[in-house]
Amino acid sequence: MALKRDLYRALEDVVGKENISEDPVILYSYAWRSGLIATPQLFVPTFEAVTLPRNTEEVQAIVKLCNRFKIQYKASSTGWGPYCDPTGPGVIKLDLRRMDRIIEINEKNMYAVVEPYVIYAQLQGELMKRGLVCNITGAGSNCSALPIAAHQGIGHMSQSASYGERNLLGVEWVAPDGEIIRLGSLGASSQWFCGDGPGPSLRGVIRGNTVPLGGLGVYTRAAQKVYHWPGPATFPIEGVSPDYKPSEIPAGFMVRYLHFPSADIMTQAVRKVGESEIGFILMGFNPAMVCGNKARSNEEDVALFKKYTDEVQGPGFLLIIAGNSPDDFEYKKEALQQIMQEFNGKSLKDVEDPENAGGFIWRFTRVTGSLRETCRATGCFGGEVGGTDVFGLMRTYISRASKVKQSYIDKGLLHADGTDPFVQSIEHGHQGHGELLIRYKPSNPESAMAAREIFMVANRTAVEGKFGVPAHVWSDEIHDMFGPHTSNYTRWLRKIKKAFDPNAASESSHYISAKE
Ligand SMILES: Cc1cc2nc3c(=O)[nH]c(=O)nc-3n(C[C@H](O)[C@H](O)[C@H](O)COP(=O)(O)OP(=O)(O)OC[C@H]3O[C@@H](n4cnc5c(N)ncnc54)[C@H](O)[C@@H]3O)c2cc1C
Repeated sequence: MALKRDLYRALEDVVGKENISEDPVILYSYAWRSGLIATPQLFVPTFEAVTLPRNTEEVQAIVKLCNRFKIQYKASSTGWGPYCDPTGPGVIKLDLRRMDRIIEINEKNMYAVVEPYVIYAQLQGELMKRGLVCNITGAGSNCSALPIAAHQGIGHMSQSASYGERNLLGVEWVAPDGEIIRLGSLGASSQWFCGDGPGPSLRGVIRGNTVPLGGLGVYTRAAQKVYHWPGPATFPIEGVSPDYKPSEIPAGFMVRYLHFPSADIMTQAVRKVGESEIGFILMGFNPAMVCGNKARSNEEDVALFKKYTDEVQGPGFLLIIAGNSPDDFEYKKEALQQIMQEFNGKSLKDVEDPENAGGFIWRFTRVTGSLRETCRATGCFGGEVGGTDVFGLMRTYISRASKVKQSYIDKGLLHADGTDPFVQSIEHGHQGHGELLIRYKPSNPESAMAAREIFMVANRTAVEGKFGVPAHVWSDEIHDMFGPHTSNYTRWLRKIKKAFDPNAASESSHYISAKE
């Protein structure tokens, strides 16, 4: 369906001729997805037009035009996630890549304000120069540094630097009908330091467990809390990706992959590491993910996986320690030593080898290995993403789905990368989050269906076992599966959608619709 000419011309007037297109070549380039669990086709529906707004006023003008002409829109920051796609016709894209400025780094009050196309790699580099660091979504530092773009925003540094919803401060929001709303302290002053006030506190409206995935207007700027960085202002890097590493391991840094006799014992060790606050990064990676971080090819990955699984005695986690001073570093190493003794922990040799350790520290801190950690071999991301709760509970939940994964590995439908789930600790153990990754073959419908079946089993497990709402709750269908078991939160979510988006202009197929 071609856009009405008067709408197209009005959009052109907003962004300029060179920043809008309805050329099929451009539209199809936005529609390519290399295999998805829910929709394993390679092309998704195309947008009617793509626009590249430069600032908040242009975003607002586009949103108002969409409301007036009764057409939908959808924004994206880097366009990394499949939830950036429309699921049917009649949608205009707002590609925010021209909004790429770091607005402010406030060293004294420890926050940073960015536009949507600033990526974490940029922000982290600027912060490190100032002795600061931020959490980075586990999806990688190539993703938007806007703390309300990433799906959940949990990442490698969440042990010491929390994540998305908890770090979010002031936000500038073009609401679904085009009104500009400034949240938190920004609503009462020009200051970004607080997400809840003075000024309107709508944090629970604009995001909850996950962000609305494009279904509730457009966020044009946002502030996030940043943290102390104990490392150097710059990392002198040598080599070529993924084989690059700092020329020397920064003083006060140490990386280990620690493995334990059983999952229960490992969970106790994670708790102790949290209590003693020694972890800069604590990721419950399984050996497959550690191999993925390092391996340069599938062949190397398979060989490393065998080597690592032969060596580990049981479940483990990746730990990076960063000392704030030589004494602090000594204290942290000593505390770790005691924890290792108490819980019979052992360290994987390949990771602590000084030849490899610098590279691991760099790739995990810079968050450059995510794609390999999650998509090695098949190029696809598949798995179940649990919710966020107590570490032990999340581990129990996500472990249940691993049994069905094993049955598909046995049938040859999934790649055998082990079934131990990946569980991570957040805020020194205050919270936990678990995921079960699956290496499936998108070109094989049976394999794609196996991945989907694990996803559905995990959803049923969450309901029956009362494990809370997982993060993969996208669409009316999945929300309606959880709503009746969780105080009918869906009624409130739909009321919010209806109140803020009376014309249903903000395309919300990955969020929720306002249907009764
Ligand atoms: C391999 C892989 C690993 C991942 N690992 C993690 C992980 O460890 N932790 C985690 O939290 N997530 C993870 N994810 C999901 C991930 O968070 C998102 O895919 C990623 O953050 C999206 O990049 P982005 O932040 O640039 O947002 P985009 O991909 O551009 O957008 C994400 C969603 O938010 C909406 N959106 C984006 N920007 C705006 C805006 N300015 N205004 C309104 N709506 C907007 C989009 O419509 C879309 O629905 C992973 C994804 C992949 C593919």
